[in-house]
Amino acid sequence: MHFNKSFGQENINKRLATTATLNVLVSGTIAGIGAVINKKPGERTLPVFLKGFGFGGVGGGICYIGKSMLWQTAKRENFNYVWPGRIINSIGASIIENAASNKLFYDSFGMNLWIFRLDINSNKKIKFRICPASTISSIYLWSVYGNIDLKKTIYTGSIMLVGREKKKNNLYYFDSQSTKSAGGMSLFNAIIINKTFYEHFYQKSIYSTIAHELVHTFQNRQSLSFNKYYNKIDYNLKASSKSYKKLSKYYFLDVNGIDIASAFIFNITLYHSDIPIEKEAYLLGEHRIE
Ligand SMILES: [Zn+2]
Repeated sequence: MHFNKSFGQENINKRLATTATLNVLVSGTIAGIGAVINKKPGERTLPVFLKGFGFGGVGGGICYIGKSMLWQTAKRENFNYVWPGRIINSIGASIIENAASNKLFYDSFGMNLWIFRLDINSNKKIKFRICPASTISSIYLWSVYGNIDLKKTIYTGSIMLVGREKKKNNLYYFDSQSTKSAGGMSLFNAIIINKTFYEHFYQKSIYSTIAHELVHTFQNRQSLSFNKYYNKIDYNLKASSKSYKKLSKYYFLDVNGIDIASAFIFNITLYHSDIPIEKEAYLLGEHRIE
């Protein structure tokens, strides 16, 4: 989400360093806990945690670099850095996922592209699956907003809807007459940019909002490592249900507890820029402190 707010005065570089450290620590912790959950019989807990934490931390640092490249989109007003940023973010997120699965850090590489997920594992096996959350949110946002911007969709790897506000819009934060209005919004790998907002309030290029919303889509990719906590449930279901196993070949679950929690936090707070994922999107996408 992107609201119209004033620029902060604090030192951006100091905040960038803190954010990089947090990416390392949080991703390290998620991967360390995941590695313990996915520990093999006979393995000792502490070494497994530390190994997961170490590789997860490296992955978190790489994700930070990928997300930071989005600032170039706002600064240069072009998309030259989005694909390199997406690839780097995916490498980092894949390392976190592998670490959280208690596997070798290069076991597999996974990238979320529009409504799809591409996975290449170390045996050079390629999987191409559909992402239900990104698909449903793309259809939902298209139904309330329309206007898929094909060029920006190709240039960013996210489904991009750019257009004017519709009169009968049921997204309250897209009412330009309201102080709650927003210039953009992301849901999984789909993004809306509201042009009307800029005419009413902002008088600024839409690239900073695109960069901000793309940070959210990269955060979604990074947070999917969390799903590795459920590896054992997934294996058991695949072993016991043939139809589940068959269906798993076609879809990749691109939603998790963090997404549900942030949706919940967003719904219960009117002014939500205090939550970490928002602060990071303002900082890395726009070099703003909120
Ligand atoms: Zn936001």
